[in-house]
Amino acid sequence: MSRIVIAGNWKMFNTVDESTALVNEISESTRGITGVEIMVCPPFTSLLPVKQATEGTNILLGAQNMHHEENGAFTGAISPLMLRGVGCTHVILGHSERRWVFNETDEEVNLKVRSALDHQLSPIVCVGERLDQRETGATFAVVELQVRSALKGVVTAELEHVIIAYEPVWAIGTGLTATPEQAGEVHTRIRRLIAGMYNDEIASELVIQYGGSVKPDNVAGLMAVEDINGALVGGASLDAASFAGIIKNSV
Ligand code: PEP
Repeated sequence: MSRIVIAGNWKMFNTVDESTALVNEISESTRGITGVEIMVCPPFTSLLPVKQATEGTNILLGAQNMHHEENGAFTGAISPLMLRGVGCTHVILGHSERRWVFNETDEEVNLKVRSALDHQLSPIVCVGERLDQRETGATFAVVELQVRSALKGVVTAELEHVIIAYEPVWAIGTGLTATPEQAGEVHTRIRRLIAGMYNDEIASELVIQYGGSVKPDNVAGLMAVEDINGALVGGASLDAASFAGIIKNSV
């Protein structure tokens, strides 16, 4: 049976107190649910308190970004060593808000992916097309370029630590969700691409999440698609009841 990983991207929301209250509520409402891996990705300032609040639970901790260097004169940046030090196991890289708001390039995403793997952090590599790119039929060309660039220098043995999140930019925070067919088509193409770049076995085990306005009432349809192995959830992960609903309905 393939894995299902549901991760909540809290973006720039929640103080320390709000974060611990939210994760405690999520932990309470998801107790006993099996068959799904649960992750929260709070802002940097909440990583340590959320780690402490989730001690003894099965909730995984991810960061939302990082610098690729270990240390240095990079004011305001956070390194992989720092993320490991607070107990992160995962880090979201190349989120569309990083790409389009902060002008992050494919090359920078690749440096971060390489660095995350070098520091035993599992990258959640986000890829996805803008609406104009979908409308001009460029979806897969865009996604293929992003996948190939992000994984440059990543060898077969490392791929089991990588998660890819297909997040069509037009579906993020807009309330527009890709249909299971639209998402499934891209997920299958990504899996085939990985099979070509690596091998069939590693491709079949790769977790490919869908992200873009996932809600409790649309997650089941998406997870029913063979090549969709979980979700990266933004807005709906900020409310414990709706995030727990997504988790429950995903299995
Ligand atoms: C995201 O931030 O990765 C995301 C998918 O956001 P939303 O669920 O709000 O569309």
